[in-house]
Parts: sequence; structure tokens; C-alpha cells
Amino acid sequence: MTESPLEALPIRPELRGQQPYGAPQLNVEAMLNVNETTYDVPEEVVEAIAEQVRAAAQSLNRYPDREFTALRHKLAGFLTSESAVALSAEQIWAANGSNEVMQHILQAFAGPGRSVMSFPPTYSMYPLYARGVNSEYIAGTRSPDFTQTPEDVAAQIREHRPKVVILCSPNNPTGTALQLEVVEAAYRAAAESETIVVVDEAYGEFRQPGTESALSMLAGRPRLIVTRTMSKAFAMAGGRLGYLAASPAVTDALRLVRLPYHLSAITQAAAGAALDHAQNLMANVERIKTQRDRLVVELRGMGLDPHPSDANFVFFGGLDDATAAWQHLLDDGILVRDVGIAHHLRVTAGTEAETTGFLTSLATYLNR
Ligand code: PMP
Repeated sequence: MTESPLEALPIRPELRGQQPYGAPQLNVEAMLNVNETTYDVPEEVVEAIAEQVRAAAQSLNRYPDREFTALRHKLAGFLTSESAVALSAEQIWAANGSNEVMQHILQAFAGPGRSVMSFPPTYSMYPLYARGVNSEYIAGTRSPDFTQTPEDVAAQIREHRPKVVILCSPNNPTGTALQLEVVEAAYRAAAESETIVVVDEAYGEFRQPGTESALSMLAGRPRLIVTRTMSKAFAMAGGRLGYLAASPAVTDALRLVRLPYHLSAITQAAAGAALDHAQNLMANVERIKTQRDRLVVELRGMGLDPHPSDANFVFFGGLDDATAAWQHLLDDGILVRDVGIAHHLRVTAGTEAETTGFLTSLATYLNR
């Protein structure tokens, strides 16, 4: 058998035969598969970004602020107002997407000979982050309805004693948020092995009124990290800016592994401009939440089984053949996500028109 050109290269043994992350990037009318905000960036925000980027362009001959100080202040300000938790700039870290933030966390706290644990079905990148830093990945388990209880999470952490635990709340792909008592139980169990607990709140801004952010638990918990991103609520997936809040010691530790000047002056300028318009952008978050709640109600009305969602997407079961339903939707110009769980699909809450288009197409499929 002839080796592929890639396999003929001296790649690390653990990368052999592995696949890269690969959600389909198709150009169709309704792209509801990767949980972006589907509204265009508001004109006022486009103008502000263009202005700030133009100003940054004038000093591109110089390296950017390595400590992204102005941006950290703005991110701290946003989190403080969004979650009513007082945070300082020293508690904030940022990188090119929360993907890179998570990579920094694992580079600092995991690495060879250590293990990383999360609870599938969850964000499919977690095992890949672990692989990238040569750590063992431990797949924990959930209840059959994909929820997690404090007792179960704590018992699994005590059994495996990983160096980093990643909780995802609201969880991708199921949409469900964790009660803070689950995070508390995880932190307490993790403390026995001085394990870092990360709560990935990529979809935190979409949480239901009764759900509290884990940001409120940071005080007095030096090994707790809460990650966020501007890719979802801020409609900035293309801008690549993820961030976290933690104790100042954690952000100090991450300085040891980041590459110098990892946040370009262009990225800092664009993100800063978007943060100046956070209020405007959060108006779309409210519209998206309305469509999200509508999806849950209407999918249930169609006899399907949507999971409660605190995110900007809905995960639903009850399909006879998820692959056939996915293809029917795509034929109608609607791209949703098949995450490989039988009878289930995940759909991003889009604009009202996109949501109507999705529901209409799915109803046609069900009545075929
Ligand atoms: N965490 C979760 C749960 C996600 O769903 C995503 C993106 N789909 C990310 C992190 C990464 O987002 P980004 O790198 O764009 O910030």
C-alpha cells in the first residue's frame, strides 16, 4: 500500500490518521450550522471598526501592545455590566478565538503526562486541544438526557484526577446550561488534586433569565476559569477574539505560553470598537433568544424532542433519519449540523425569516 504524502512525513505519532476540525463551510442561503450570529454586523459597528482599524494601520510598523491593556479594560467592563460581577483588567486574558484561549490554558496547566477531562457530547474540539498539547483526554459521561448532576460530576473527577476539567455551559451541542451547584461540586472535587476547572461560556450571553454565569463564582476560587468569546453574541466570529476571566495569577501563568504579540493591532482595534457598541450588538442577542425559544416551542409542536436551550441554537431529537432530514434541509438551502448523534440535529437560531424557512422545510420533510 502506498503511503499518502502526509503519512510519509515525520509527523508526531499521535497525529497519524487523525482528522482536522471540519464543520462544512458551504455557501447556502441559511447557514445555521456553526452557531454564528446570522444578522449582518450593524452599519454603525462596521463604521466604528473601520475607523479604529484605520487608526491602528498608521502604526503597523510597530509591534502591538503585548498586554492588550486597553482591550482588557474594555472586556472587564463588558463582563462586569453583563454579569453584575466586578472584574478587573488583571483578571482578563484574550487570544485569537476562545479556541486559542483554551490552547493557552492547556499549554500552561496540562501538557505531556497530564490529562484533560470533559463530558461528551460536548464541544468536539476539547479532545483535539488535548491532543495538540500531548495530554491524555478523558471522556466523562452524562445522564441519558445529557444533563449533569453535582454528585456524578464530582465522582468522575475524583476517579480520574485530571489536571484540567472543562465544563461547557451552555453546552454545545445540547444547549443546556449547568446549575452553579454542579460547577461548585466540580470545583470542590477538583481541589483535591489541584485541578483547574474551566467553564466554557461561549454562549453565556444567551442564557435564560434564571441561569447565572459562573463568573459569580470566581472570587475565592483561584483555579476556576470562565471562558467567553466575541464569536457568538458579538457577531464577530470572523474577528477571532476569545477571552477569559480568572484570578490574576492564572492570567500571569498564561503569559508563559502565549507567543509574543499574539493579538495583532488590527484584532485589538476591531474588538475594542465592537465592545464600544456592545449595547447595540446585544439587541440582536435578544432577537436571537426569541427565535431560539420559538424553535423549542414549534419543534415540540411538530412532535419532535427539542432540549431546553440557554444558547443560540437548539438540539432536537425524534427524527426517524437525521441524515435524510439534514439533506432535505440542505436541498432547500438550509445548512444545519448533524453532530453524529442518531435521530438528532442541531440548528442555530437565525433571523425570524431564516427560522421560519427552517421550520417550514422541516415540516415538509416530516409530512413527506
Ligand atoms: N467553545 C464552544 C462551546 C464553541 O461552541 C465554540 C465555537 N463553536 C468555541 C468554544 C470556539 O469559539 P471561538 O474560537 O470562535 O471563540
